[in-house]
Order: sequence, then C-alpha cells, then structure tokens
Amino acid sequence: RPPLMALRGVSQVFRTKSGPIPAVRDVSLALDEGQVLCLVGESGCGKTTTARMAAGLAEPSDGAIEYKGVDLAAMNSRQRTEFRRSVQFVHQDPYASLNPIRTVYSTLASPLRKHGIAATKQEAWDAAAALLEQVDLTPAENYLTKYPHQLSGGQRQRVAVARSLTLRPRLIIADEATSMLDVSIRVGVLRTLTKLRKDLGVGFVFITHDLAIARYFAAEGHMAVMYLGRVVEYGRTTDIIDDPQHPYTKALLAAVPEIDPTNRLDHTTHITGVDIPSLTALPSGCTFHPRCPIARDGDCHEVEPQLTDVDGGRRVACHVVAETTGAVASGGGD
Ligand code: SF4
Repeated sequence: RPPLMALRGVSQVFRTKSGPIPAVRDVSLALDEGQVLCLVGESGCGKTTTARMAAGLAEPSDGAIEYKGVDLAAMNSRQRTEFRRSVQFVHQDPYASLNPIRTVYSTLASPLRKHGIAATKQEAWDAAAALLEQVDLTPAENYLTKYPHQLSGGQRQRVAVARSLTLRPRLIIADEATSMLDVSIRVGVLRTLTKLRKDLGVGFVFITHDLAIARYFAAEGHMAVMYLGRVVEYGRTTDIIDDPQHPYTKALLAAVPEIDPTNRLDHTTHITGVDIPSLTALPSGCTFHPRCPIARDGDCHEVEPQLTDVDGGRRVACHVVAETTGAVASGGGD
C-alpha cells in the first residue's frame, strides 16, 4: 500500500529580482496513516516551504507530492476534493487564521454545513460543540458564541485545531503551531494534539524550530532535520535525539542545555558561530562546511553529500559519517 503522503525529490525555487532562491532542494519524505513526522531546523531551512507544498498550498518547482499514491499534479477533481478534505494546515498564528468577525460557532459550522456533515443548524451546533470538546475547550457552550478577540492565544489555537478537524482529516500539517504561545499554554496544546493523534489516528507533519517540542510530540515518530533547504538527517526521533549523527544535528542538540518542553527556555534550534549562509549564495560542496567542526579539505568543500542509509532507517547526508559507517547513498528519506 502506498504511504499516506510522499514527497519525492521535491524542490522549490523562488524567482526574485535578485535571482533564484532555492528554498527546498530534493526533499524525499514519506508518512503512513496515523504517523507523526517532525521537520526541524533553523529559520530559512525550508521546513515551512516544504510543509506548504505538502499541504497543496504551493506547487513544487520539481519533484512530486503524492497523497495515497496519487501525484497532486495529476489528480482529478474528485481526488483533489478528497485531498483538500483529508489534509489540513494549522498556521502558526491563530489570530491571523481566524476570521475576526465570525463567532467560534460560525467558524466551525461553515465547513460542516458546506460539506454536508451537518444538515441543520442544530446538527452544526452539536457537531461544533463536540469538536470543541475534542480540543479540550469545555464546556463548549461557553466558547461557541465568542469571537476570536474574546479568547486567549491558547484558546484561539485550539479553535483553529478544531476547525482543522471539521472535515475529518487523515493528516494535519501544523506549522509552528505552538511557537507563539506562552510555554505553560504550549504544553497544554501539545497534550491535546497528542491526544487527538492517538484517539483519532490522525497523521501529523509537525514543523518546529524547537527540539524539545519535536522530542515531545514526535517521540513515537520520525524527525527530519533540515539545513539550507535539504534534509541532512532523518530517522526515529528518539534515535536522533539520543545519538545524533550529522554534525549539524549534533550542534543543534549541543546548543540546547536541557530538552524539556515544560521549562521556560525556547529551545531554538540556532547554533552560534558562523552565520547561516544565504540561500542565494550556497557554499560549494556540503553547504554546512563553513560551520562544520569536522569539515575536511576535498570532498566537504567540493561534493554535496547525498542522504545515505547508515543504520536501522537512519539517513544522514555527510561524507564523514558515510565513510565511517560504510553507508550507501539512498537518495531519499522515505
Ligand atoms: Fe561536515 Fe563534511 Fe559532513 Fe558536511 S560532509 S557535515 S562539512 S563533515
């Protein structure tokens, strides 16, 4: 059976006045029903662009995105409708994504009525209330008549999550969905999302710059570490956190003193030292070599390393790691 979603050699180049910007390069990832995948990296690494393409919000410049084995670009209208219902995107900023002049009821009822899930106002009211209960906004009646400005940031994000559930999706793509929330509220929303994943069997692609959130939310899933538009390490989240292989992943983890989502630190995946190179002037060879503590002359400066199987489903794009493990290039992360 094909994976629920697969990205096959996906790239995205933005054409700008100052030249092309290769935001995402040759990313291959896959996710089965009910699984969770975290995309992690510093800002500008391409994780949000990758997520937007996976959600069908942007078309790749190259490569293919498949949902249940069907290329998005080749879908007929029935398949595209199913894709739009089944794959939902949750934005970073719930305030911007909710209509300020709609009550919570109206926000939730609109897709329920439009897609025939609720035939009457009473059915829509009951279904909206049930959705609020699923995202732990109880009693639901207290929230249905409220407007976004009458809610806290955490409550707004829960409403945004409830809206993403209206069409009974199979996959939710959440872009930094908790990063704007205070840490105490963030943990509560993460708990709700984890419960939804388990109770409803919904798959998640979770984009975050925060390694603690990746570890918490994708503990039972996989993680892809991105750097300058490419996946540099992929594997089970716990394996990567316990034993990072790529020098970039090691640096990210070393920059985080304590990986605990309940403490007050923002576990920003930003390493100090040399600044991140510009996407418009990518370094030759391995794009991480200007920051890499073990970069060597020759291949690190001249040849871009391919994502390579190293062990038990782990894939790493690094010449040195490949050499020490005797790995073979796989060309993808699925
Ligand atoms: Fe560092 Fe070379 Fe590996 Fe790149 S390929 S991460 S420069 S050791």
